[in-house]
Amino acid sequence: MCCNGNLTEKELQPNSNDTSYLDTIKGMRFFDPHVHMTSRTTDDYQAMADAGVVALIEPAFWLGQPRTAVGTFRDYYSSLIGWERFRSSQFGIKHYCTIGLNSREANNEALAEQVMEILPLFIYKEGVVGVGEIGFDDQTAAEEKYYRLQLELAKEANLPVQIHTPHRDKKKGTTRSMDIALEHGLDPYMVIVDHNNEETVREVLDRGFWAAFTIYPFTKMGNERMVEVIKQYGSERIMVNSAADWGISDPLAVPKTAALMKQRGIKDEDIFLATYKNAITAFAQSGQIDEADFNSDKEIDQSQKFNGNTILRGGQQPRIDKNAIIIK
Ligand SMILES: [Zn+2]
Repeated sequence: MCCNGNLTEKELQPNSNDTSYLDTIKGMRFFDPHVHMTSRTTDDYQAMADAGVVALIEPAFWLGQPRTAVGTFRDYYSSLIGWERFRSSQFGIKHYCTIGLNSREANNEALAEQVMEILPLFIYKEGVVGVGEIGFDDQTAAEEKYYRLQLELAKEANLPVQIHTPHRDKKKGTTRSMDIALEHGLDPYMVIVDHNNEETVREVLDRGFWAAFTIYPFTKMGNERMVEVIKQYGSERIMVNSAADWGISDPLAVPKTAALMKQRGIKDEDIFLATYKNAITAFAQSGQIDEADFNSDKEIDQSQKFNGNTILRGGQQPRIDKNAIIIK
């Protein structure tokens, strides 16, 4: 901790072993509404649980290379509502997901058609809190086509929509995403616009949508900028997420940002709303989220099985002394 009580840059970096920020947020609960746990390890789950993350949403997304068959989408969606939810429960974290065709793979139209056919088999499943993450990547005609089709699907299922806004030409892409959602008659209160920055937030809030912010280490939206956004706009309809995936990212971005907000004088109520409650309010419109459930996973028995499999490898005992240098 630095001289004036603020966390230094080093302390907030993902690889820092200094966990003193945890004292700042002791006893607080967090909800990460955008994190790709399939790409993360059990250590990440453990660290998130230790930092106070009690529940999360895993949006369906792009896996880093294009899929070649609809069967791999089917298996992926199945794992989001099956194995990954189980894995999360083994660390006491309630797992929800959103299901959708991501913007990048919407450009393979032949495959996209097949994916659209199986989406209705998944979006009505237990724990699916929205259609997502959908929207624009390169802002192509195919992306628009499947974005529109999925907005209709969400409307029909009365589910919230989780929108991925493009990293290139973000302002235009964000405006266009909202225009199209309104054109399809969606209530902005049912739409969570993700990956905002200082350039997009005002319009998103003014138009009545939810504004989600992804905290990216080293680039884009760092959490010091996030603190400034909260100072300027308050916490109404704003939520913070990590979007941690297979790339360089930080699954502790939500608790770390809460710690930084606290250090920099943001009111507890605003931290509570931006790092926990607002995401629940938005996604609970699916009828799938009950905060009481967050406690039900607390009785953890890591020897439990899912379809005959546990997270313990041959003969392992559940690990308790995770910080010990001796690994046994
Ligand atoms: Zn994502």
